[in-house]
Amino acid sequence: MIDQFNSSNFPKSLDKLTESEIKRKACIAKVMTYTLRNLTSQFVNNGFEWLLPVTLSQSTDPLWPDPGASIEKRIEVDIYGKTVRTTASMIIHKLIASSTAYPKLFILSPNIRIEKAERAKTGMHIYEFSQLDFEIRDASSKDVMVLVEDAIYNLVTSLHQDMKKELITLCTSDTIKIPKKPFKIFDRCDLETEYGENWEEKISKEITDPIWITNIPREFYDFEDFKTGKWDNYDLFLPKFGETLSGAKREWEYAKIIEKIERDNVDKENYKLLLQLSKEGKLKPSSGGGIGLERLVSWISGAKHIAETQPFPRIPGIVHEL
Ligand code: ASP
Ligand code: MG
Repeated sequence: MIDQFNSSNFPKSLDKLTESEIKRKACIAKVMTYTLRNLTSQFVNNGFEWLLPVTLSQSTDPLWPDPGASIEKRIEVDIYGKTVRTTASMIIHKLIASSTAYPKLFILSPNIRIEKAERAKTGMHIYEFSQLDFEIRDASSKDVMVLVEDAIYNLVTSLHQDMKKELITLCTSDTIKIPKKPFKIFDRCDLETEYGENWEEKISKEITDPIWITNIPREFYDFEDFKTGKWDNYDLFLPKFGETLSGAKREWEYAKIIEKIERDNVDKENYKLLLQLSKEGKLKPSSGGGIGLERLVSWISGAKHIAETQPFPRIPGIVHEL
């Protein structure tokens, strides 16, 4: 990683901003508000239910194995005699919700991932972020990719119409182009061959448009074809800010889920309900993903550091009063 920042140029807390920094912050807030309204409207208009988030559960994303993970600490706390964890992602909730009462759902979900402090300098990591996290029963990867491409295309088109002034102020009206659909797709294996171990960082610097990257070895819930060894998952990468959505077709069969959980050394105790439902045949096939809202808005607004898009910056290693 290139160290672009030191503590003197990290985004500051609200009380420390200069006049011009407050103006820029307010302008980014307008872009964030517009983005939230636009994307949530698109999902609601497409028949999705909007669920409210939870922040404490026994079961949350193991964030393992994930080649991009750098978690310094996992937060667990006892309530009512049970150990709960802060939400790392709502993936487990999404799988169960989409299998039962909510076949098409999305949540503006909190994601608490206490990243290693050294990641402060990447400009693209924060220790609390928000996803527009969605899941669709019986959908394929292709269905999700088309849905996301339409969502990003519509958002950027509308931004150019309605938020011209803000984009000019942020100097991104010429650089954020309306992306061409379908977005290009790359296989992670090919990128590793071309760019080596640091393919994520290199490709993020090189691209000028959103792209998909597929076939990334990851957590047990992403679908893996045991015959070919290929993963049916997809990441949306944006210029400079990299992985802005991760998603997949999901595993739903008990035998595969348990085999993968054991292979990955993930604690079965934390996934009892998911395992029980899959054993009973009640977990349904689905696909989904989560759009990282701060990274998306960083790209649109040309943020120098992703924490610029947060009213209350969550820079790894730096804890402000608010
Ligand atoms: N939201 C992601 C998914 O749906 C999981 C994650 O947050 O990494 O696959
Ligand atoms: Mg993930």
